[in-house]
Amino acid sequence: MRFETKCVRAGQKPDPTTGAINVPINLTTAYQFNNSDHAKDLFNLDAEGYIYTRIGNPTTDVFEQRMTELDNGVGALATASGQAAISYAILNITNSGENIISSSSVYGGTQTLFRYTFKKMGITTKFFDPDNVEDLESLIDDKTKAIFVEILPNPKNNIVNIKKIADIAHKNNLPLIVDNTVITPFGCTTKDFGADIVVYSSTKFLGGHGNSIGGIIVDTGNFDWENDKFPELTNPDPSYHGMSYTKKFKKLSYIVKARIQLLRDMGAVLSPFNAFMFLTGLETLPLRMQKHFENAQKIAEYLEKHTKVKWINYPGLKSSKYHNLAKKQFNGFGGAIISFGIKGGYKNGLKFIENLKLCYNVANIGDTRTLITHPASTTHSQLSEKEKLEAGVPDELLRLSIGIENFNDIVDDLEQAFNKIKI
Ligand code: PLP
Repeated sequence: MRFETKCVRAGQKPDPTTGAINVPINLTTAYQFNNSDHAKDLFNLDAEGYIYTRIGNPTTDVFEQRMTELDNGVGALATASGQAAISYAILNITNSGENIISSSSVYGGTQTLFRYTFKKMGITTKFFDPDNVEDLESLIDDKTKAIFVEILPNPKNNIVNIKKIADIAHKNNLPLIVDNTVITPFGCTTKDFGADIVVYSSTKFLGGHGNSIGGIIVDTGNFDWENDKFPELTNPDPSYHGMSYTKKFKKLSYIVKARIQLLRDMGAVLSPFNAFMFLTGLETLPLRMQKHFENAQKIAEYLEKHTKVKWINYPGLKSSKYHNLAKKQFNGFGGAIISFGIKGGYKNGLKFIENLKLCYNVANIGDTRTLITHPASTTHSQLSEKEKLEAGVPDELLRLSIGIENFNDIVDDLEQAFNKIKI
């Protein structure tokens, strides 16, 4: 199946009982065992099937299989949120006393997870500047377990060169974990550039309609976990009667371990209802993303010429220093997130947003609707002036997440709001 067909069909057949062609929402907690031996086999992982929805559900399973196919991977695990996906992707292979290396350009929630919550668990994070990967290798030590990057961090829109970082990771026998929330598998098959594990907040473009929170981890199958660095995957697991994941599950060992250890014990499971919402969203992913990207490109071109715009940062524009990388890594697309600086700074930024009628002023991205945020007064307001600048958030910055409305309506709304500010 090709990409568009997989979005609609992968991982699913008509329901064998009813013939329903749409994925049934299996709102059940438990599943009837055929007999005692069947129950025993399921618990021993000697038979495939469902036991309890915290560790597996037929509706969620279709979402996991579909995402596996979209990333050309070997397996996936859905979680209750993007943050849960990132947490489990790392906790699955990292213990207290060990460390990970992360790009400094990552979502704020990921920053606090790495800087504070993981630290409390004894896992430290060393940060590197993704625009300057020369220093990256010197940060790796014998306790390093993974490298983490966000593919197109916002609001900086500084595209990360996945291949370059994957090469460094693999030279050091480390997996590269990529957050591909913003570009999605439609814009980039990260496996082709060397990603080993891909994480998503499906809350954003995958679901795409701003109605459900969720996340997913996909194992691309690129990485060889039997390289002596990951004894938790190769050695007997005392919490699972001495089983070795790599011996029993081979290529699936990473994802199986995340499911039967982390979901079993920490329980951030995706609701089957939300899995259904994401499956419905995925059916139109190629259509929506094409429109998001096309609208964003046209709006970026409009903003670039606007006399009240001080600067603009969008990789789809030839003026962006990331334009060539966007061409290579994202099939030429520049994404759906635009950052621009408005003349007149903080005051005009707020006034502009207050005057918008169509674009919603919210702290979110990846909705069918066009959304706008003024980071300096909201998401980044706790930072000092120096920290704001380091995060790429000057006072005049506005972040747009472009929706799939008619492009002219978005421009009309922006234009009437520009007309109400003086420079
Ligand atoms: N990754 C990225 C790139 C994000 O933008 C976000 C949220 O904004 C997350 C992860 C976290 O996702 P969630 O809100 O589903 O936990």
